[in-house]
Amino acid sequence: MTGLFDLTGRVALVTGSSRGIGSALAKALADAGATVVLNGVNPERLKDAETAMAAGFPPGRIHSVAFDVTDDDAAARSIRWIEDNVGPLEILVNNAGIQHRVPMLDLDVADWERVLSTDLTSAFLVGREAARHMIGRGRGKIINICSVQTDLARPTIAPYIAAKGGLRNLTRAMTAEWAASGLQINAVAPGYIHTEMTQNLVDDEEFNSWILGRTPAHRWGTVEDLAGPVVWLASDGSNFVNGQTIFIDGGMTVVV
Ligand code: NDP
Repeated sequence: MTGLFDLTGRVALVTGSSRGIGSALAKALADAGATVVLNGVNPERLKDAETAMAAGFPPGRIHSVAFDVTDDDAAARSIRWIEDNVGPLEILVNNAGIQHRVPMLDLDVADWERVLSTDLTSAFLVGREAARHMIGRGRGKIINICSVQTDLARPTIAPYIAAKGGLRNLTRAMTAEWAASGLQINAVAPGYIHTEMTQNLVDDEEFNSWILGRTPAHRWGTVEDLAGPVVWLASDGSNFVNGQTIFIDGGMTVVV
């Protein structure tokens, strides 16, 4: 690939990329030329994902580092490892996330905090660590994976909604502090995407037909639908885009 969207020679870390959306985004960044570092908490699954993806690329293009994105020290150690062993980190995709479905009246504080720390605090911890390296070089791209739940609420997923809304605003806060140092921080807000996380919803006939009716494009999104916008945000093609959240939702958030 040549030109504005070429990522050759750039090092990218995608958190939560052992499967699902993160894995597809990592593959898309590698297809655009980046050297990619995969991440997850389950070391065996992560190693398998690295081996599978590496088979499609020249040696040295796909790496992995297992760490829990809610662990401040582990994030710092892992980013230092990337800097020392892979190269200067230029692209960070804060993708790792979980959901916990339970009505708010039955929700434990521990579960609330677990979702908030995985889906929101992690982006601050990993983002801050990456920015410490990026700012010294005067360049870097951070892409936070939000959700349509950034803007649209539904019952039973209160901590997820709070976390993703917070992540949209964290994107703006990072921009306010770091854009002058040459960093671009933006967010992508996917609609309903068919992955392991949403398999139970695809299988639920009533929910599935509600989604199809509620989405003007009349289909679930695919992980590939997210790849183009994320590669664009990671590339020089988006160098004056700062602090934005781009909805990739088949039109869900623009109709009632
Ligand atoms: P999956 O459940 O398929 O994958 C989750 C990934 O996150 C896995 O790689 C998992 O690693 C990793 N992960 C979970 N917790 C941690 C942690 N503490 N530290 C490091 N890695 C962790 O999720 P999706 O691919 O569906 O979702 C990815 C992101 O996209 C999430 O932020 C989600 O909120 C967002 N999103 C998803 C939508 C959808 O419809 N699927 C819609 C909108 C947004 P491991 O394999 O080790 O467990």
